[in-house]
Amino acid sequence: MKVTVIYDNEVKKKGLRAGWGFSALIESEKAPRILFDTGADGPTLLHNMNELNIDPKNIAITVISHAHYDHTGGLSEVLKQNETAELYLPSSFRTAFPSRKVTIVGEDTVQICENVFSTGELEGVEQALALKTEKGIFVVTGCAHPRMQGILEAASKFGKVYGIVGGFHGFHDFRVFEGLSLIYPCHCTQHKKDILDLFAGKASECGAGLVIEL
Ligand SMILES: [Zn+2]
Ligand SMILES: [Zn+2]
Repeated sequence: MKVTVIYDNEVKKKGLRAGWGFSALIESEKAPRILFDTGADGPTLLHNMNELNIDPKNIAITVISHAHYDHTGGLSEVLKQNETAELYLPSSFRTAFPSRKVTIVGEDTVQICENVFSTGELEGVEQALALKTEKGIFVVTGCAHPRMQGILEAASKFGKVYGIVGGFHGFHDFRVFEGLSLIYPCHCTQHKKDILDLFAGKASECGAGLVIEL
C-alpha cells in the first residue's frame, strides 16, 4: 500500500504548492484509488495532483474526514473532473450530492474496501482511516479533533496500530504514541517539533509530495 500526501501546510517536493489543509491518496493493488480529504482549495489540489501525475479521473472513492473547509475546499473541483467517484462522508458534513453514490458514516466502523476501513465518525465530528497492512494498522487522520486515544482505539479494532499520518491538531499526550514505529505529523499538528524530537527515528517530517510505502 502507498500513501501520497497531495496537500499540506508544508511542501516536500519541488514544484508543489503548500496550503493550509490536508489531502492524501491511498493506493494498493487490491483496492480502488482513494482520495482522503481535498485540502482548502481546488486550484492548489489540482496543481499538486498534476505535478504528482495523479489523474483526478482515476479516483474511485473520496473520503472526507470532517466538515472543515481545509479538508473539503477542493471537493467540488475534484467532482467536476470526476463524475463517478463514490463518497464516504461523516454524518456531520451536511452537503447533498445528488446523482452520486454517497455513504454517510455514523458512529460505527465501516469497511470501505479491502484492507481499508473508517473508524466511524468519532465524537460526532470526524472519521479517520485504518489501513490494514502486513505490519499492522496504519492510520490516516485529517485534524484529529476527536481525542487521539479514541482514534487509535477505534483503529485498533482492525489490528495493532503501528503508524499514523495526518493532522494531529493540539495533541500532546505523547505517551499515546509510545507503541508506534512510524509517525508523520502533518497539517495542523501544533507540536510537530516536540513529536519529531521525542520520537526521533520513528517520526518524520510531512509535506505535500511525501510518499509513504507501507
Ligand atoms: Zn484541518
Ligand atoms: Zn479541522
